[in-house]
Amino acid sequence: MLDDYQDNEFYKYAINLKNYYHAYIFEVANIEASFPMILAFAKMLICKNHYTNQNSCPDCNICHLIDTNTYSDLKIIEPDGMSIKKEQIETLQQSLSLKSSNDTNQVYIIKSAEKMNASASNSLLKFIEEPEPGIYAFLVTENRTQILPTILSRCNLITLTTNQQTTYLEEDIKALTEFIQKLHLEKENTMPYIKTLFLDKYPDRDKIIKAFNTMEVILSSLINEKYQIKTTQNLKFYDIIKANLGNISLTDLIYYLEKVVEFKNMLTITLNLNINLFMDRFVIEVSKVEVM
Ligand SMILES: [Zn+2]
Repeated sequence: MLDDYQDNEFYKYAINLKNYYHAYIFEVANIEASFPMILAFAKMLICKNHYTNQNSCPDCNICHLIDTNTYSDLKIIEPDGMSIKKEQIETLQQSLSLKSSNDTNQVYIIKSAEKMNASASNSLLKFIEEPEPGIYAFLVTENRTQILPTILSRCNLITLTTNQQTTYLEEDIKALTEFIQKLHLEKENTMPYIKTLFLDKYPDRDKIIKAFNTMEVILSSLINEKYQIKTTQNLKFYDIIKANLGNISLTDLIYYLEKVVEFKNMLTITLNLNINLFMDRFVIEVSKVEVM
């Protein structure tokens, strides 16, 4: 999947990932099905050839060891029975505290991260609160709402799925595609239009959450198509999205998606929300895209 991806965009993104983030949550529809893609992310961080070749490295020893789960600086944690236990997280932390013997980045992947019990979650929380350079956390889940909010708030979230059960109205797809396009083209100059383009249609918290869900689907559908993931072909009104947002680069799309998800999470955990301030902050954050 990602290994076959030829475009430079993804490699640019991976370098940004290396510089900016130490912990990621991947929300996926099916962990096993998405796992090769997540391993490909890990390779970006561990194998230097992935940067210099800007390509997959089929004859690469490191990547081969990663594929066979025998590379010592990639650790994979899975539930032990019904849950992931504190001892598993502690063992992981001890092994990571010994410096990499290969002089590469270290990545640990926690599969079904929502199955961490309370004490495991708290151990992990302390660990990701004090990130060490060269160590990257990938939490993989099919349901991020079951993960401790304090952990969620410290991770960058990548959603690799679209929710096919939900139906999206053409009207909303059109309105929100237009809003994203305006943000992309005019950045902070979108500020005076927040009311007419967004808040008039989505005036309260529940409607805003739905709007952010829809924006997540719009952006995911474009990203998935660039990754050649087939699922999005079923999304109705995709032609509207593609016509208006089809020329945005993958790097920018991923940045926008991260911000949409980050602000959506904020919406669900903040009680006394000032909607106007919230939207102003969203526009400011999204406008920082060029810094990437
Ligand atoms: Zn490699």
